[in-house]
Amino acid sequence: MICIIKIVIFITTIPIIAGRHFGYSKRDQHIWVKNFKLCSGKLQSPISLSSFKSVALPLPALEVIGYHDFLPNPLYLKNSGHSVVINVNNHLRKELPYIFGGSLDANQEYEIDHLHFHWGAKNNRGSEHILNGIRYPMEMHIVHRNKIYSNLSNASNYKNGLVVLGIFFQLQEEDNESLHSIVSDLMCVQGINRAIKLSSPITLASLLPKNIDIFYTYKGSLTTPPCNEVVTWIIFPTPVPISFTQLNKFRSLSNGKDMLADNFRKLQNIGLRKTYVRRLNPLLIAKYNGTIFNAENLDWFWH
Ligand SMILES: [Zn+2]
Repeated sequence: MICIIKIVIFITTIPIIAGRHFGYSKRDQHIWVKNFKLCSGKLQSPISLSSFKSVALPLPALEVIGYHDFLPNPLYLKNSGHSVVINVNNHLRKELPYIFGGSLDANQEYEIDHLHFHWGAKNNRGSEHILNGIRYPMEMHIVHRNKIYSNLSNASNYKNGLVVLGIFFQLQEEDNESLHSIVSDLMCVQGINRAIKLSSPITLASLLPKNIDIFYTYKGSLTTPPCNEVVTWIIFPTPVPISFTQLNKFRSLSNGKDMLADNFRKLQNIGLRKTYVRRLNPLLIAKYNGTIFNAENLDWFWH
């Protein structure tokens, strides 16, 4: 395969929001809070999720629009030094895939901005969230911006600014064909800040788990500095498969010094927050520990 390196100016990526340098070693993460005050807040991510501790609610389904369409070309894959990122900025002013429903405020639609991955140097780690005690080897984040805000950095100032879909990956022997386009282009972005045009088109639906009926949701933050507490997290418990060979391609990337891997933030305290899990039930009222939750009107979740 021939790698045609593109020099691309990215209008919005997570590292640009971050502005300053940050690292993922224990020592580096310790100083995030010194350099980025928001990282010591009370609504930080990632957290450990558990089905026993989550309030099971008959939330509305999450609606995904345009997820079966090819993302508009050109799409760029970039090694940011912290992750590998696919930006879906709307230079062409076409309508982009968006989501609504679930735990999201009524009448609020969230449009895709970009997606990126977190993975481990070893198979026993990599995901940022933990689900029922399991840390998966990789987690993908599809970052969506509330359509009422003009761009990612503007949306990052508002508590209803962003929704991130969290997707876990589970190892298997066989390749996942849906990842072929991304994985085959990784060899072209091994160096930090390398970017290339994705060689084949992709749909977001091909990257989602088969079952998106069940999801966990909670209020949290960006998991990278500056850690703004503006993210509604929607995490699917059903993992997507990835082969050992495919995951190793992610581990072939460089962060400028070492292997780019173990790019996950340490777990944060849940504090006084509740986490919720959607359950399929025709009744929209649920009682949990004596508290009544009405899933028909989600004002209590948002205010
Ligand atoms: Zn992320």
